[in-house]
Amino acid sequence: MEEKVEIILKGRLKGSQKNRLVRLLDMMYSPRELANEVGFDVRQIYRVYITLGCPHEKDSTGRLWINGMVFRDWFKEMYKKRALKPNEAFCLTCKKPVKMIDPVRMQEERLFYYICICPNCGRKLARVIIRGKPINDKQE
Ligand SMILES: [Zn+2]
Repeated sequence: MEEKVEIILKGRLKGSQKNRLVRLLDMMYSPRELANEVGFDVRQIYRVYITLGCPHEKDSTGRLWINGMVFRDWFKEMYKKRALKPNEAFCLTCKKPVKMIDPVRMQEERLFYYICICPNCGRKLARVIIRGKPINDKQE
């Protein structure tokens, strides 16, 4: 008795933003630098990408740093079109859909998602869901 769940990943980029991803270098960017480089709001990094598991580092002062090339690769993998069953999440370590075991439903403002642990590798996974509402793919 699986519910019908509409899948949408927040934080998709428009064509012009995607084109700017190629400019990202193999160096560490602050969230603001990265946001400026690609052309989205810096809050999108904290609200969406970090939540979804974007690889990042924290320095001794607690500031966040993201490698440009790592971000590009992560983004392409994360936002690739793929078919997931309602009870699956995609594990970027295992590079395949895995069954969600005891997923915890979370909400951040209008973003709903499940958090679970990959049964194969133990990685924390997030899967964004939106129920009922028409798909709103507008950029934040
Ligand atoms: Zn895994």
